[in-house]
Amino acid sequence: MVKKMKVNFGHFQSVSKSNSAENKKFLNGLKRKDARKVDAAFHQTHDEVFAGMDCLTCANCCKTTSPIFYQTDIARASKFLRMKPGDFISHYLRVDEDKDFVLNSSPCVFLGEDNYCSIYEARPKACREYPHTNRKKMVQITDLTHKNTMVCPAVWEIVERMKRFF
Ligand code: SF4
Ligand code: SF4
Repeated sequence: MVKKMKVNFGHFQSVSKSNSAENKKFLNGLKRKDARKVDAAFHQTHDEVFAGMDCLTCANCCKTTSPIFYQTDIARASKFLRMKPGDFISHYLRVDEDKDFVLNSSPCVFLGEDNYCSIYEARPKACREYPHTNRKKMVQITDLTHKNTMVCPAVWEIVERMKRFF
């Protein structure tokens, strides 16, 4: 069994900012590569990095960014909490500049002190899919991936390791 890596957050914050410009250039360069090869390299590297990553020592995604809540997410989470969808919206959500429902406070109200999610089984699709490094057509989300190199230590590590392929 692979021992999970405890996230050294101070180190991550400093290195992710200092090589942000280099990573942006690298990710932009991937748009000119074969999209299937880029996907294959991302997916292999995503699996490698997450096999050793202990998200419970981090939770920076839940502490600093909000998922979008689509109607299906609101229905699932409110049912889990035995609330009416309208009450769930008025308690926890706001409409952002893109007219999407997002959390009205940060860190996420459902994140516990122990970094566990209290609605884990009913969490939004965006939380399930974060940080989106095992999606198809990764070349289409290089801006998002670059943004996430400064939020998520795993994404930063994935991008660093991707450099061996391209
Ligand atoms: S920011 Fe990344 S490494 Fe940290 S908990 Fe979220 S997915 Fe895991
Ligand atoms: S709903 Fe759960 S997984 Fe999603 S941001 Fe909140 S604590 Fe994190």
